[in-house]
Amino acid sequence: MPVTDSEALATLHRVFGYEAFRGEQEAVIEHVVAGGDAVVLMPTGGGKSLCYQIPALVRPGTGIVVSPLIALMQDQVDALRALGVRAGFVNSTQDFDERRVVEAEFLAGELDLLYLAPERLRLEGTLDLLSRGKISVFAIDEAHCVSQWGHDFRPDYLALSLLGERWPDVPRIALTATATHATHQEITHRLGMPEARHFVASFDRPNIQYRIVPKADPKKQLLAFLRAEHPGDAGIVYCLSRNSVEKTAEFLSANGVDAVPYHAGLDARTRAAHQSRFLREDGLVVVATIAFGMGIDKPDVRFVAHLDLPKSVEGYYQETGRAGRDGLPSTAWMAYGLNDVIQQRKLIQSGEGDEAFRRRAAAHLDSMLALCETAQCRRGQLLVYFGQEPGAAGCGNCDTCLTPPETWDGTVAAQKVLSTVVRLQRERGQKFGAVQIIDILLGKRTAKVIQFDHDQLSVFGIGEDLTEGEWRGVVRQLLAQGLLTVEGEYGTLTLTEASGSVLRREREVPLRKEPKRPAAAKSGASS
Ligand code: ADP
Ligand code: ZN
Repeated sequence: MPVTDSEALATLHRVFGYEAFRGEQEAVIEHVVAGGDAVVLMPTGGGKSLCYQIPALVRPGTGIVVSPLIALMQDQVDALRALGVRAGFVNSTQDFDERRVVEAEFLAGELDLLYLAPERLRLEGTLDLLSRGKISVFAIDEAHCVSQWGHDFRPDYLALSLLGERWPDVPRIALTATATHATHQEITHRLGMPEARHFVASFDRPNIQYRIVPKADPKKQLLAFLRAEHPGDAGIVYCLSRNSVEKTAEFLSANGVDAVPYHAGLDARTRAAHQSRFLREDGLVVVATIAFGMGIDKPDVRFVAHLDLPKSVEGYYQETGRAGRDGLPSTAWMAYGLNDVIQQRKLIQSGEGDEAFRRRAAAHLDSMLALCETAQCRRGQLLVYFGQEPGAAGCGNCDTCLTPPETWDGTVAAQKVLSTVVRLQRERGQKFGAVQIIDILLGKRTAKVIQFDHDQLSVFGIGEDLTEGEWRGVVRQLLAQGLLTVEGEYGTLTLTEASGSVLRREREVPLRKEPKRPAAAKSGASS
């Protein structure tokens, strides 16, 4: 339909001031303007918003945008109004009068876009309001929130299938940056959009350099990385716990980095203040739990650092994807070590959820670990994970491409670890964590080794050929490869079904050589 095409393009120029559509935008917009349903998978920063904003402007009526990001609605609406778009929102932060004004505007046909939180669509009052106005399109943003297996599951999203039932003639567009094939299918299925056309943009973010370093002293490693490569740059540092968020932010501030904390334990006003400073100032570092970042549109985030292991590749991809939306070189940096593996395995085992949930969580973790331990191009592995072809050669812009890791035959080392675990269990009926196993291998007579007579074991001291750091690497990789696992609240090591084949010498165990500890990690920092 050339008429709508040119209308869409004219709107892009006139309202948004952009020259041309990017990637899949044009195809998506054309399809939705013509009344079709669409599922859009585009990486963060890919330009999803225009995919529904332009159809909402071109088609008669108001575009209804369902978004879980209540905290950002005001900003989004303000930004649109500044462009002359008639936008409004209805959510729980408004009082009755404010809401009435927006509702009246909607009914009078004076809104191009109306943002709603998903929980509002469970209220009969909201549905009734919507049926009294004219709707041009339904946009379901962050559509992966409908997935029960994802990390952002929102039960309210499950009710959104009713939109198609109640308004069969209004096109729907579901958008997300999370896109494994499974999530993809679930969105189509749970939102009741079997006829929707799928638009999948490339997941490659060529300007992001992926790096995963062995964790030694993470705060100091982070500081050295920032000083060497990103002084004065804006960035996000992710930590798992509120406590480590606080400590890391303090540490960075004490060492001259402009850094603020962000987590759910801070009061709403502090959180909002830190977020708006991040958006408006140059070069602020936010240290945060994963609560921070969803939907934040800051183009010049130069780095995303992880001090703890994300729970899944989707999470990692989404969090690192907040770097470099402007297309300029950016870094995704992560410190990862043995304790990350042990901690996450423990969390899964002691966490809530049924057996199936635990299995899924374990599979997510395994994929994440495979990415950490790979000796191949990390970008290639990410793309394969998202169902895309990797480039033939390496990408040339990740650590494994830039400095290929050496591998070595770790079969004998693996056997030593596994047989120590077996002996303790069979001969003594005991289970221990990684520290004790490594002390035994190294032949260290620590108080705990003496206390348990572990210097009497035949395996005592059989591992003096490797350093403690190298043994930690071996144990970590065995855990990552599923040749060893942890159990209980103390994270004791125990065998898996696959361990037997190593002990029986039926399989080899190739391992990644531990890189030398970067010299930068030792540089002066006060804690
Ligand atoms: P997403 O929601 O997919 O993360 P956004 O819709 O927020 O991405 O867009 C990311 C950035 O790219 C925004 O700053 C947006 O204004 C810009 N952008 C989107 N489409 C275009 C385009 N066709 N031309 C230029 N800039 C664009
Ligand atoms: Zn690469």
